Amino acid sequence: MDCIFCGIAEGKIPCVKVYEDELILAFLDIAPICKGHVLVIPKEHHQSIASVPEATAGRMTRIAARIGIAFKRELDADGFNFHLSDGACAGQVVMHAHIHVVPRNPEDGFHWNWRQLKYASEDETKAIAEKIKQRIKG
Ligand code: AMP
Ligand code: ZN
Repeated sequence: MDCIFCGIAEGKIPCVKVYEDELILAFLDIAPICKGHVLVIPKEHHQSIASVPEATAGRMTRIAARIGIAFKRELDADGFNFHLSDGACAGQVVMHAHIHVVPRNPEDGFHWNWRQLKYASEDETKAIAEKIKQRIKG
């Protein structure tokens, strides 16, 4: 399989590492939104975050949060974003699940293109919530 992040996890493709353990790896994004932007990946190949085992996904989130704290303490960030694109239509380019952790400052010049739609009715709102609820109930 020709996966760039598997190549990085196997040490065949270079990266600038900030964290590694037996389950995950974190390294600098080669084209950062803001300087310090990190990618957190599972070492095992999974295209979607949905198939990453719970222990690994939990570790990814925990380390991503610690990276965010490091941004605030060491890079003078005021805050940070987590971002994950799952699927090409969502903007996923590298088909190996990863969390982006991006240091943020008020003057960094980056803006999410976040629109604010409205539901047509309370019925529509409830129907959508119910479908999600039924699918994830464990
Ligand atoms: P996504 O659009 O969520 O799939 O993001 C893929 C990210 O991987 C982009 O932000 C790229 O800049 C980054 N990227 C691609 N190749 C490399 C690489 N060799 N080392 C570090 N980051 C990379
Ligand atoms: Zn991979």
